[in-house]
Amino acid sequence: MKIAIIGVGSVGSAVATAVQNTGLAHEIILFDRDGIRARAAAEDLGHASAFSYDIKITAASNYREIRGCEIVIIAAGANQKPGETRTDLLQKNVAVISDIIPRVMANVDTKRVKIIIVTNPLDVMVMLAQKLSKLPASRVIGTGTMLDSARLKIILSRQLGISTRSISAYVLGEHGDSSVVNWESVYVGGIKLDDFCKQAKISLPQTTRKTIEHRVRNAAYEIIRGRGATWDGIGGAVADLLHAIINDEKRILTVSTVDGVGKNAIAMSLPRVVGEMGVIMNLHTKLSASESADLRKSAKIIRKNFDLI
Ligand code: NAD
Repeated sequence: MKIAIIGVGSVGSAVATAVQNTGLAHEIILFDRDGIRARAAAEDLGHASAFSYDIKITAASNYREIRGCEIVIIAAGANQKPGETRTDLLQKNVAVISDIIPRVMANVDTKRVKIIIVTNPLDVMVMLAQKLSKLPASRVIGTGTMLDSARLKIILSRQLGISTRSISAYVLGEHGDSSVVNWESVYVGGIKLDDFCKQAKISLPQTTRKTIEHRVRNAAYEIIRGRGATWDGIGGAVADLLHAIINDEKRILTVSTVDGVGKNAIAMSLPRVVGEMGVIMNLHTKLSASESADLRKSAKIIRKNFDLI
C-alpha cells in the first residue's frame, strides 16, 4: 500500500511515524509546501525504518509523485495557538484545503482513493474536501471524534479502574467545542455504565460526568498550553483508522463524513462502520433527550461555519 501524507509539520510527522509503525504501508510519500521540511522529515523517518519495517519513504517535490497512492492523508494547515479555537482556523485552512484537493485529485485513481482529513476545523474541512474532490462521501473521511472518544475512554478507565479495552464509549458531533459525550452508549465489559457503577460500588454523579465532559473537550487546549501543539494522539488515531481501512476490519469508529445533500449536507462524527471501501454504514446510537438536543446544536454549528466559506 502506497500512502501519501500532505503537510509534514508536527501532526504530519507524528502521523508518518505512526503509519510507519503499523507496517501496513510499503511506501510513504511526504509532501509539504515547505520542500526542505518534507525532505528532512523523509530522511529522519527513513533512518527510523532501519529499526522497524523496511518501507520506502520519500519526499515529493511535485504532486505527480503521489500517483498510485490509494490513501492520501491531509494534515496540512494552520494549527491552534494557545487560546485559539479550532473554528478560528477556518478561513486560513479553507485556502489550504482548496489548494491541495484539486492537485491530489489530478494525480490519484478517483475510483479507489480514500482521503483522510486531519486538518481543523475538522468537520468543515471534510465537507469542503468532499465538495471539491467530488468523491463519494464514504471515501472522504475525517478522523472526527476518534481522538475525543479515546480521551473519554482513558478518563473513564482511570475513574473506574478498568482497561480502556473493556470500555465502549463515544463522543459524537463536532470535533470541537460542541462535541457531545454519548453517556447512553457507554458500556463497560458489555454492562451499561450505570449497572457497572452499581456492581463496582462506584459513584459517578452528574457533576462528575460534567467534569469528565469538560476534560474531554479541553484536552487539546491543555496539551497546546503545555507543548505548543498536539500530535501523538492524532497520530495514533490515524494509524487505527488505517488498520480498519487497509485490513477491511469493518470496525465501528466515530469518524466524520458527509451525510445528506445540498443545504442539508453535514459532516460530523457518528459511529460508522469502516472497511476497505471507506465508510460503509452509518449507525445511530441511543441518545438521551439532552444529548439529542446537543447533537442537533453541534450539527447547526458545523453547517453555519461551512456556510461562512
Ligand atoms: P504545523 O504548523 O506544525 O504544520 C503544518 C504544515 O502544513 C506545515 O509544514 C506547512 O508547511 C504545511 N502546509 C501548509 N499549507 C500547505 C499547503 N497548501 N500544501 C502543503 N503543505 C502545507 O501544524 P500541525 O500542528 O502539524 O497541525 C496541522 C493541522 O492538524 C492543523 O489544522 C491542526 O489544527 C490539525 N490537528 C488536527 C487534529 C485532529 O484531531 N483532527 C489534532 C491535532 C491537530
